[in-house]
Amino acid sequence: MAESGATANRRDPVVRSSKLAARDSNTTDLHTHSNVSDGLLSPAELVGEAARRGVMTLALTDHDTVGGLDAAATEAARLGVDFIPGIEFSTDVGPYEVHILGYELDWHQPDLLRALAELEAERMTRIERIVERLAKLDMPVSFQRVVELAGPGTVGRPHVARAMIEAGYVESVQDAFNRYLASGRPAFVPRESLVPERAIELIRLARGVPVLAHPLTTGDIEAMIQRLLPSGLLGLEVYYGEYDAATHEHLRAIADRFGLIPTGGSDYHGEGFKPGRDLGRAPVPPESVTRLREAAARLRAREDAGSPRSDETATRARLA
Ligand SMILES: [Zn+2]
Ligand SMILES: [Zn+2]
Repeated sequence: MAESGATANRRDPVVRSSKLAARDSNTTDLHTHSNVSDGLLSPAELVGEAARRGVMTLALTDHDTVGGLDAAATEAARLGVDFIPGIEFSTDVGPYEVHILGYELDWHQPDLLRALAELEAERMTRIERIVERLAKLDMPVSFQRVVELAGPGTVGRPHVARAMIEAGYVESVQDAFNRYLASGRPAFVPRESLVPERAIELIRLARGVPVLAHPLTTGDIEAMIQRLLPSGLLGLEVYYGEYDAATHEHLRAIADRFGLIPTGGSDYHGEGFKPGRDLGRAPVPPESVTRLREAAARLRAREDAGSPRSDETATRARLA
């Protein structure tokens, strides 16, 4: 980009229309995925799409990776989109999906990068073991092909399923899961599970703000919050695109009761992914962004001052 911003803006319809959109609205979306995890658009395309829709405050929260944040931040700066670097860790607690979002991360923090590389290595080992099991079941697929099918995204069981379809062993991804890849089926290998406390610890290491995602998947929401507060949970995803207004209100009351920052977003993965997950369609108040940024600034100030990381309750009281 050798051109000056002004010259580029006149010639680039996305830049021009995004500046117009910024004047008319300031929609916020704090939960989106790119093809660096399991979304359809590249990080830059996602930011472009957000700008076109008037989503001028945007967080990218790919699963277990910060790999898309550099490209997204660069494109956001070009288009005048206010960008919030994020991540979403997937963890399981018994039968429940407990996902932890992290915001305003220092995404080049070496300890975070090391931990993410270890998680990635564990994922690859798991997929290798699944491929080995398939070979023993007389359904050989090439590990290399599975990795190719994942493209820039994170390798997972859906890509094994697609390799199995190519080889003619199964009809569909669902068929592959039902017969071979799901829990309890012959090619299933359990994943080394990340606990939510560890996810929060990693986010805090990178001086980010940890938030409990789409709380309705977590079982007893209040019990989960109580469990995670001592680790440093600071927010609750209240304004989730798939939830109705009554649910938003209910979750808001819980967030207020625990002094948690209410955040929100669409969980956009691309067009036609799931109803309610349309980019920019979740009603996220500007207050969410202000409070996230205040919290991040306080965490930074506190760590720069070298104060201990204990006494989270007092910290939350100050941050709330
Ligand atoms: Zn999630
Ligand atoms: Zn998500």
